[in-house]
Amino acid sequence: MAKTILCIDDSPTIRLLVRKTLEPLGYTILEADDGKTGVETARKASADFVLVDVNMPIMNGFDCVKMLKTLPNYSSTPMVFLTTESGEEKRNQGRELGVSGWMVKPFEADALVKIVRMLAG
Ligand SMILES: [Mg+2]
Repeated sequence: MAKTILCIDDSPTIRLLVRKTLEPLGYTILEADDGKTGVETARKASADFVLVDVNMPIMNGFDCVKMLKTLPNYSSTPMVFLTTESGEEKRNQGRELGVSGWMVKPFEADALVKIVRMLAG
C-alpha cells in the first residue's frame, strides 16, 4: 500500500518541493495551507505521516499538532516539524508536543526522504 503523507505548510514552494521529492518514490501527498485546513484534511483522510510548518496563518503548527493528537486515528501518527525556526526554545516547545522530529528549512531532499522512510515506512 502506498503511504500517504500530509504536508501542512502555507508556502506553496515548500509544498511543491515536498511533493516533487516524495511523489516519484510512490508516496501519496495531501496538502493543506494552514493548520486549520490541515486538521480538516486529516479528519477526512488518514495519513501515515504528517509534515507540519510552524509559522502559518489562521492556526500555527503547534496548535495544529495539538489538535491532530486529539484525533483517534492520529494519536500515534509520526509528525515532524519542517520550519525556518531553529531556536532551542521553539524546538523544546515542539518536543513537548510529542513530535518525532524537527527539520529546518531549506531542507535537503535526501534528508526528507530519509526521515519519511524511517517514520512512515
Ligand atoms: Mg510558514
